[in-house]
Amino acid sequence: MGAVIVAADGTELARGHSREAGDPVAHAEEAALAKVDPADPRLAGATVYSSLEPCARRASRPLPCARLILDAGVRRVVTAWREPDTFVEGADGTGLLTAGGAEVVLVPEFEAAAREPNRHLSG
Ligand SMILES: [Zn+2]
Repeated sequence: MGAVIVAADGTELARGHSREAGDPVAHAEEAALAKVDPADPRLAGATVYSSLEPCARRASRPLPCARLILDAGVRRVVTAWREPDTFVEGADGTGLLTAGGAEVVLVPEFEAAAREPNRHLSG
């Protein structure tokens, strides 16, 4: 799983992938967000591209990725795949993000492109 944060002008701010740095519970979105200065003004206009819908709840961390994205000020998320068993209202990342004022764009065809960062990192 990979995530890339791209500024409004197309500049890549950071990217991350799950289980980064040997952390077995690290999520791609939080790994990427951790690399951006929280005070970076470009976050407000940035888009998070994630190969998986940002999580809405998790046992291993106090804050889910959807909340981390909102807290970072990012208001646009493009994701390739939505977890099929999390369509309960308010329990899914898309619902949490939308409720927080963010736009979520689901692009199934994005899945192949979303794998590019991982392929790049392993190559
Ligand atoms: Zn997550």
